[in-house]
Order: sequence, then C-alpha cells, then structure tokens
Amino acid sequence: MKNNEIPYKTYLTEQELPTAWYNLRADMKTKPAPLLNPGTGKPLTAQELTPIFCEELVRQELDNDTPFFPIPDEIRDFYKMYRPSPLVRAYCLEKVLDTPAKIYYKFEGNNTSGSHKLNSAIAQAYYAKQQGLKGVTTETGAGQWGTALSMACAYLGLDLKVFMVKVSYEQKPFRREVMRTYGASVTPSPSTETEIGRKILAEFPGTTGSLGCAISEAVEVAVKNPGYRYVLGSVLNQVLLHQSVIGLEAKAAFDKLGEKPDIIIGCAGGGSNLGGLIAPFMGEKLRGEADYRIIAVEPASCPSFTRGVFAYDFCDTGMICPLAKMYTLGSSFIPSANHAGGLRFHGMSTILSQLYHDGLMEARAVEQTSVFQAAEQFARCEGILPAPESSHAIRAAIDEALKCRETGEEKTILFGLTGTGYFDLTAYQQFNDGVMTDTIPTDEDLARSIAALPKLPEA
Ligand SMILES: *Cc1c(COP(=O)(O)O)cnc(C)c1O
Repeated sequence: MKNNEIPYKTYLTEQELPTAWYNLRADMKTKPAPLLNPGTGKPLTAQELTPIFCEELVRQELDNDTPFFPIPDEIRDFYKMYRPSPLVRAYCLEKVLDTPAKIYYKFEGNNTSGSHKLNSAIAQAYYAKQQGLKGVTTETGAGQWGTALSMACAYLGLDLKVFMVKVSYEQKPFRREVMRTYGASVTPSPSTETEIGRKILAEFPGTTGSLGCAISEAVEVAVKNPGYRYVLGSVLNQVLLHQSVIGLEAKAAFDKLGEKPDIIIGCAGGGSNLGGLIAPFMGEKLRGEADYRIIAVEPASCPSFTRGVFAYDFCDTGMICPLAKMYTLGSSFIPSANHAGGLRFHGMSTILSQLYHDGLMEARAVEQTSVFQAAEQFARCEGILPAPESSHAIRAAIDEALKCRETGEEKTILFGLTGTGYFDLTAYQQFNDGVMTDTIPTDEDLARSIAALPKLPEA
C-alpha cells in the first residue's frame, strides 16, 4: 500500500478477533525462571498455588510450552463489546514532528475502565466463576485494574474486594466511585483490616502505600476467606498471556496493510501491556523469522529495568508472595508519589526480565515532565488525552521519530497507547501549573532496597 493510502484507522472485523491467546514462553529458548516458595527455595507447585489463584489460572501460569490457549467463547463475546481495538496511523503527529517515520499506535483506552487491563480482568473473573468461587480480591494502584476488574465481576456476578494504594485513593476519588458503581468494595491500603496492613502502618506511619503493600493485603484476605481467590492485573505470566490479544490484533492489522513495524515501544509497569503487544512479534524474532527493535519505557522514579538487578525477589512488600526472578529495585522500595501510578511497581514480569537479560529487548527510563510534554503534544494533534503511563511510550516514540528526522530514515514505529487520562487530571493540573517535579531515587536509596533482597535458602 502506498504510504499516503494507509487508512487512519485499521479495524479488524469481529470475526477476525483472535480465537486463541499466544503464549510467548513456548518460543523462548531460555524460559523465565520458575516462581519459588520463599520458605523452601523450591519451585512452586500447582498444589501450592491453588489456595491463592484459580485452578485454570495456575495451569496457565505454570505452562511454558503450550503455544496457544483457546479463548473461551464467553470471553470472546465480552471482548466483542470493545474489541478489536483500532490500529491508528498517527498522521497528525508525524506532521507536527516533520518526520519521515511512520507512527502507529494500538489504542486500548476505548472502554470504561480506560485501559488494556480489561483484557485480563474478564479472563481472570471468568475462570473464578467457572470454578464456582464467590469472589476475588485484588490490589489497584492508579485504579485502572480495579475498575477493569469491577466491570468484569459485575458482568459475571462475582464479589470483589479492592485494596487501593492510599495515594491513589486520595488523588483519584472518581476512580473509586466507578468501582463502587460496578459493585466493588474499595479500601485504602495500607489498611487496619489486615495483619500485614497493621504491621506496615506501625512501621511506616503516614506512608502513602505502594502496589507491593496492597498486594500483601489482598492476598491475605483471599487466603483467609473460603470461596475467594486473589487476582493480579500485571506481572504474572497468565496476564501477559491474556494481553497477547493486543499484539495478535496489531500483527493481523499490519498484515492486512502489508506493513511491518521496525520499532515496537511500550510503557512498562509490571510488563503486561508490553508483553502482550510484543508477543507475536517477539515470537517471530525468537524463531528467527523476523527482527524488531523492542523498547520498554519506564519512569525514572521507578526504574526496574535500567537500574534494578536481575534476582529473585518478593512481588509484595509484606513478603508473603512467591519469589520471582526479575529485574527489581527490591520489594522494600517505595517509589515517590509519582503520578504514573500504574508504573509504580518495584519488579517486572519474569518473561520480560528474561528477554531483556538475553538482549532481546531494550529499556529506557524517562522523567515525568518530559513524559507530560509528550502527552500534551500528542493530545493536541491526535485528539486523545493519553494516560500518564501510556505517555511514557509516546515520549519514546516521539524521540525515535525525531531521530528519524535527523537521519532521514523512514522507520515504522508502533507503540502501545494503553489508556486515557481522564482520571489523571490532578497530574495534568500540576503539569499545566508548572509545578510538576521529577523525583529520581538516589543510588543510596536503591542500594538500600536492593541490599534487602531475600537470601535464598541453599537449594
Ligand atoms: C496499568 C497500566 C499500565 C502499566 O501496566 P503494565 O502491566 O506494565 O502494562 C500502563 N498503562 C495503563 C493505562 C495502565 O492502566
């Protein structure tokens, strides 16, 4: 197709919606390291995981070999309410940047929760329902995951209890109301409702909380209440599996256009949108069928890939969760009250960590004010008000497009526009008022939390 004949938006039909999720692990030569039992230092078995997670999700979590998991019809029907999501050619942004690069984005903000998280929320709620459970518990940072899960639970008639990172609970009261409208109960974390919450409050009075801490609380409640399981919106292998629907659709749309991205960019919090977006492309790369440059973009305030270490660590602050081998800043790292709430996690998906470690993808950290400059530029020409998290990817996409302006290269850039920023207006307000700051942890801050990494028992 001639460059200027490419449509602004490429939609797949409902019939073309993927029928199976793609499990990237099946094509990885070095598999992600297994989750370990923190007590014994041995790989966790399905049996040990089933008190925490639903059975089918445990199966998906531990399966490194099956390349495709069929998407149940009920989940595909739910997907049809807001998918396939469009692949958009950012003609207006290209013009503003005066770049020869072609820029595309895959837009996941087209549902009430405002992000890609609904793709996994409906899957996890579905398997909980299948198992005959009463409800699920979870944590939420910025609130997108909690909102997505409350929509999924309302749809399937499941009870939902959400622990919301306190800073977000206070900054984003409207998110909380959306969750409550869908029937979820929402508690600011750390709370006095759990043992771990009370312990953290005693140790760090006045803490604004963290995802790691909210996770500990949600797991504790799930394990203590019969008929409940815990669900997590990022990091886990199963979540990346569900999110592969993003990449599969993007790949199908590119195939329709007869195009191929050179550079694929995504923001990275726990790694689920990026892992999902790159899945089929990385699969080709792993099988030696094609090559792509893949860039993870993280906040300079929480730089797991670029300043963390590749080691076994806890996923939560309370140190009750399994150990995962990942790029981590240490589970005791509490990031500054950075507004990209969805990227405030100390660790990273084990799949992406292994791929990064093996040199199959790059990472870079960007500062908050430059992220909002990119968000503003994007909003003004492309129309969509982006989520701060997504704007990390926009920043890197713009930077790559500007490099193409320098070199004259006509690269094709794809980035994940994971969501909209309507609930992030406090952050936009700070930016507009010129009072936004960039908080970057010092080497001493990081050395302290990294020194506290768990010592593994001799296996
Ligand atoms: C949660 C979230 C992210 C980050 O989570 P990942 O698991 O790394 O994808 C990014 N963008 C938006 C809009 C989010 O809600």
